[in-house]
Amino acid sequence: MSQKPANQDNTVVIVPEAEIGTLISAQIAFEAVEATFAAMSRKSAYNFPVIREAIGHADALYGFKSGFDRDSLALGLKSGGYWPQNETRGLTNHQSTVILFDADTGRVKALVGGNLLTALRTAAASAVSIKHLAPANASVLGMIGAGHQSAFQMRAAVQQRNFDKVVGWNYHPEMLSRLEHTAKELGLPFEPVSLEELGAQSDVIISISSSFEPLLLNDHVTPGTHIACMGTDTKGKQEVETALLSRATVFTDEIAQSISIGEAQHAIASGILAESQISEIGAVINGDHPGRRDCNEITLFDGTGVGLQDLAVASVAVSLALEKKSVQTVQF
Ligand code: NAD
Repeated sequence: MSQKPANQDNTVVIVPEAEIGTLISAQIAFEAVEATFAAMSRKSAYNFPVIREAIGHADALYGFKSGFDRDSLALGLKSGGYWPQNETRGLTNHQSTVILFDADTGRVKALVGGNLLTALRTAAASAVSIKHLAPANASVLGMIGAGHQSAFQMRAAVQQRNFDKVVGWNYHPEMLSRLEHTAKELGLPFEPVSLEELGAQSDVIISISSSFEPLLLNDHVTPGTHIACMGTDTKGKQEVETALLSRATVFTDEIAQSISIGEAQHAIASGILAESQISEIGAVINGDHPGRRDCNEITLFDGTGVGLQDLAVASVAVSLALEKKSVQTVQF
């Protein structure tokens, strides 16, 4: 049977960075990311290998994260990276743009601002881990890191458990005011603490720093804690002591990234953790893994950040922008 001729006009939807905040809430990002992790574990969605290069200009790191979800038909890439001098120009150092393609024809479908989307999808990932792995009665949230991502992380985390207090530590203590302001906005008391104190008090710990040395040590962490390691997304970075990964039950968004660019890379390299000991969070979401088994178990989520998360939230942004009818389009 002959195929119907394709319409030669190709309408490309543009969702500028400034529109994202009006379209995507933390809850919308949460639902998109949870569904994506589930699809990855069912093997109906997969990420392509990550490309990340120091381009030898403006000290920039530039690359692509990409993939395809056969269920939602999200196909495309997030292109972007880190320009350390942007701040002096009044721009965000991290810059990214998502490009979506039509899975049936390969034609470009949409161009979507990716900066706020990155923060929302990253916060959604740790929130998904908290929903599925943290103790049900968790009351103290510990935050390690006080940079741009930290406020998004805290806002998403408090939707998942009935926290009554936030404690925080940061390598640059002068930045802790960001955590204090965010906790205040959420109606929660905030206390700056040492890492020892943070480990002793917290039921859930989120680490979101650009550290290259372990900050949180095995001895700091008490039984029953859930830890979301979100800062380590590149070879060489590290936020927690490797001994913690052999003591904890380890989960991740994607095992290939976890062992190469995620927090588990060091425990794997030193041989104290085997790849077979790491489980996908999607397996817990799908009911194929029990997740937390008892109240003394330490669970650790290695959130490395996958391209499919970006495609999922960008696809929702495009659908919602089209519903609003005020959407910008170009013929391409
Ligand atoms: P940022 O530049 O705004 O903040 C950096 C944070 O790291 C601050 O808390 C800072 O005090 C701390 N820091 C800087 N140097 C440090 C050091 N030597 N030791 C310990 N801490 C140090 O960055 P951000 O946008 O908040 O991102 C934080 C981290 O999260 C980065 O490493 C970034 O690459 C990573 N990230 C991960 C994902 C993911 O999907 N997993 C997504 C976005 C960002």
